[in-house]
Amino acid sequence: MKTWRGVIEEYRDFLPVSDKTPVVTLFEGNTPLVPAPRLAEATDARMQIYLKCEGFNPTGSFKDRGMTMAISKALETGARAVICASTGNTSASAAAFAARAGIRAFVMVPKGAIALGKLSQAGIHGARVLMVDGNFDQALTIVRQIAERHPVTLVNSVNPFRLEGQKTGAFEVCDQLGRAPDYHLIPVGNAGNITAYWRGYREYHRAGRVRELPRMVGFQAAGAAPIYENRIIEEPRTVATAIKIGNPASWGPALEAMKDSRGWVDIVTDEEILRAYRLLAREEGIFMEPASAATVAGLIKSIKAGRFESGSTLILTLTGHGLKDPDTALESASRPTTVPPQIDAVLAQLGL
Ligand SMILES: *Cc1c(COP(=O)(O)O)cnc(C)c1O
Repeated sequence: MKTWRGVIEEYRDFLPVSDKTPVVTLFEGNTPLVPAPRLAEATDARMQIYLKCEGFNPTGSFKDRGMTMAISKALETGARAVICASTGNTSASAAAFAARAGIRAFVMVPKGAIALGKLSQAGIHGARVLMVDGNFDQALTIVRQIAERHPVTLVNSVNPFRLEGQKTGAFEVCDQLGRAPDYHLIPVGNAGNITAYWRGYREYHRAGRVRELPRMVGFQAAGAAPIYENRIIEEPRTVATAIKIGNPASWGPALEAMKDSRGWVDIVTDEEILRAYRLLAREEGIFMEPASAATVAGLIKSIKAGRFESGSTLILTLTGHGLKDPDTALESASRPTTVPPQIDAVLAQLGL
């Protein structure tokens, strides 16, 4: 039996680690690439659509790929504590990997704008959680300053090791597909992941592992679309809290990724996001959080607009698990009906 060893061991040759790096892993990565025939049928049956289900990582989001690298490298330099600002998933992942490494985690999250599941994760893993009465961008500014002046390592995606780990998502897609896709669709928040995927594709291409390169297509929420609008959004708004960011840290590199790959950036409204969220759950049986559904909403919009060449292979990164945000799920689903404990009443409700 060959057991998956986590992204650092599996892709060691492509990562800045040495024999001296203490690898901290939760055996992240190796997430399924799921064909989405119903989604194709509902949009354009000539497309080959695959979902890279990153919500199936150990803490429920792609952040684990970057965090195994960031925490391993922090440990290598003797760090005893890490810090991050987070819309939720970074804090969940940092808390879990810090616990695994036996070091402390300090996390700052925007008050009232973090999904319940993510908050519960950071807490149960023993992180010190501070809720800032402000937004993500403000929290990031504060933790950056703290990391500059105090002995704590910053593990936001401005930490270069984060993106190094996250680029393994592209390696896996190529390994699973046997080639690079024609298009790679992905939600954009702080813009690290799109940057990391593009780097991963280029490195695999350079190493001769694949012959093609995809076009990178990013989607922002309409109320939080700084890259699309080419301006800082002071008060970003969207139901997709993981991409509720007004001044992305990897703005420049993300723009470059889309330009270099001849891709583009587009926006989707909250209404489109929630519709795609339900469609994905009901038609494909895959429950991902709203930020991930932004990609599906983007797919629907782009196909309608005829932006993909017919017969293309499309990969959609579904970034985080649906259970992260149970509140939005409950609000988006029909309510359960209360019945008395009698079979007739139950049958009447079921229409049987
Ligand atoms: C972090 C995150 C994003 C945004 O990724 P960036 O690298 O910040 O662009 C999207 N979806 C989910 C679920 C996330 O956790």
